[in-house]
Amino acid sequence: MGSDLVIVYHRQPYEEVVENGKTVFRENKSPNGIVPTLKSFFGKVENAAWVAWKEAEDVTDPGFERVIQIEDSFGSYTVSRLPLTAADVQSFYHVTSKEAFWPILHGFKEKYNYDPVDWGTFRKVNQAFAEAAAAEAAKNAAVWVHDYNLWLVPGYLRQMRPDLRISFFHHTPFPAADIFNVLPWRGEIVDSLLACDVVGFHIPRYASNFVSVVRSQRDVGEVPRVLVTEDFVSEGSALSDRTQPVKIRTEDRDVKLGVTPVGVDTDYIAEVTAREETKARAEKIKEELGGSKLILSVGRTDYTKGGAEQLLTFERLLEKREDLRGDVRLLHVSVPANRNMTVYAEIQQEIEQIAGRINGRFGTFTSTPVSLISRAIPFEELVAYYRVADVAWITPLADGMNLVCKEYAASRDDCDGVLILSEFAGAAIELGAAILTNPYSHKNMDHAIETALNMSEENRRSRMEGLRRKVETYNTARWAQDQLALLSPEDFAEENSP
Ligand code: UDP
Repeated sequence: MGSDLVIVYHRQPYEEVVENGKTVFRENKSPNGIVPTLKSFFGKVENAAWVAWKEAEDVTDPGFERVIQIEDSFGSYTVSRLPLTAADVQSFYHVTSKEAFWPILHGFKEKYNYDPVDWGTFRKVNQAFAEAAAAEAAKNAAVWVHDYNLWLVPGYLRQMRPDLRISFFHHTPFPAADIFNVLPWRGEIVDSLLACDVVGFHIPRYASNFVSVVRSQRDVGEVPRVLVTEDFVSEGSALSDRTQPVKIRTEDRDVKLGVTPVGVDTDYIAEVTAREETKARAEKIKEELGGSKLILSVGRTDYTKGGAEQLLTFERLLEKREDLRGDVRLLHVSVPANRNMTVYAEIQQEIEQIAGRINGRFGTFTSTPVSLISRAIPFEELVAYYRVADVAWITPLADGMNLVCKEYAASRDDCDGVLILSEFAGAAIELGAAILTNPYSHKNMDHAIETALNMSEENRRSRMEGLRRKVETYNTARWAQDQLALLSPEDFAEENSP
């Protein structure tokens, strides 16, 4: 029979643990992030399936349970697990995706590492994902592929199953042609994306960058099947009118470019915010602060997140403003995701070193200017910090969207608190009511933090109201609704039918 919607995302949609010798599938604890957002589609579509990889010592082992049925609070759904060896995972994910694609996607050419890439393995793994998706999909089903580590899946899938409606969503930024074209496999990647019916991005700028990439490659004959690319009118109008996506016309199909910025689950955040437990936690944090102001910074330990730049700004602030010493504290939450990659270990070391230096220079027996937490805080606890933080300081050097800034606004039903947000986070397009700042400029960063600390209550309130309006309008429910519209059969152009 097959599934009408197949989500292809590299991670499994649950935690698999062994309890008393038995394998148990536990619902992910974290209510936020991409997995629960995607799982919310299981409640909206019957017969949905998910394709992910699972590490296996022997990928030919007949005892490996490839397809399983899961029941959890999101409903009942099929999960197809693609067995991959640890070496294949290392190559396709940690090396090709994280060392070559990730820096390019975020505009860090100097961090791009080409040498260890094994393109044959990347192709092989993507083809295997496409085969698993093809095996799950019913006739004319929608297959929704996620993120750059599966860039080649649409191309393989289209060859296997011309009947499918294929959509691809980028959760990262998409860079301009002069950066993207550094990738030697650029033609193959773009050709695969043009086998989709829909290619999705968070914000219009990423979509128009994709158009510029397609154009540049057509001009040198790398994607000869492209006939026409249509331009975006402007960022503002494309965002406010998401029902008219731009198209790229190829010899085979019209490829729609969807612009749908992912949001946060505002209902859930409101519910956590209202819990007595959260209020009690927030009171305790306030007591511990003893009247000091709290600046909160939360992000993964990644060079794209700008943690070191932020700490250096804080150091300059305390250097210059003696009056603030002891009166402002910075809680810097930096969650290491890939501990075994040198580049992430280096950034972690740098953060620890600067934080230590600041505490050494400006700390006293009773006051520590920087508290560094290098592990994930459970979301329900994080909300208590959101509630207390006078300033949320979110200044990535590049970030596809950034959800922390949206969660901060969603949890501030008291309409207080100031958000400082990097211009280079996708969320900046929607959250113009934040103090927008350029993390590459010392002057700009210094000005932003001082402005935030000095802002009048009236100004704080009116900005926070603006932020909350945006975050509440374009939340996960709305994102899901827009995605389903893009994937719906009526929305697919006739000429794309096989
Ligand atoms: N997060 C968390 N605990 C932490 C730090 C982060 O639960 O200690 C969550 C945070 O609430 C957010 C997500 O991790 O939902 C990070 O998403 P974001 O888009 O900001 O960054 P990403 O890591 O996806 O680049």
